[in-house]
Amino acid sequence: MPETPQEWYARVSEAIERDGYRESDLQQWSSWPWTGALAPKPLDPPADVEPPRRGAGGVDCFVCANAASLDPSSVVWHDDLFLLGLPHERRGLPFALFLMPRRHAELGNLTTEEATRQGELLTAVDVAARQVLAVPRIQVAMWGDGTEHLHWWLYARPTGMLQLRGTFLSHWDDLLPPVPPAQFRADQVLVTQELARRVGGEAVPD
Ligand SMILES: [Zn+2]
Repeated sequence: MPETPQEWYARVSEAIERDGYRESDLQQWSSWPWTGALAPKPLDPPADVEPPRRGAGGVDCFVCANAASLDPSSVVWHDDLFLLGLPHERRGLPFALFLMPRRHAELGNLTTEEATRQGELLTAVDVAARQVLAVPRIQVAMWGDGTEHLHWWLYARPTGMLQLRGTFLSHWDDLLPPVPPAQFRADQVLVTQELARRVGGEAVPD
């Protein structure tokens, strides 16, 4: 029988108390962005109830609002089912977009049609980004712990920037000085225009 969260926490806490945290070699990784010693935080117990996320149930959901308005300042490509949104905050990487369904949905309640298109789009964005930008591939992440409306984080590093490879790319993105906003937008639009040529939908003009 699977452990309950309380059983999991009790076992883990006891092990930490007895043996400490496991040894980590993160500081040896060439992609680890920081220097200096690491000190893990104490582990909090599980909450009794998961807190509501932003836009829960589609109420006051800013993604739904964007999907309805298709405001070109934040939506740079859309079709009937999905949109690509620009990040609100300035980014250090040459490629960063959010892929989101236009309908308020989480990963687990996409329709078959939406899930099929989602797979096609993930592949096509990777191809389009590599076609028009100097990036080796896109990285894809989905957490969904802050905002309920499904949003895939799509990132890419500059080709040859081997230090940015892998798990810590999003942390590097937070640390690096941002790409000038006009340049960043123009580069993302190049990708969405290439995407539209490949799999349809409408990209914003230059
Ligand atoms: Zn929504």
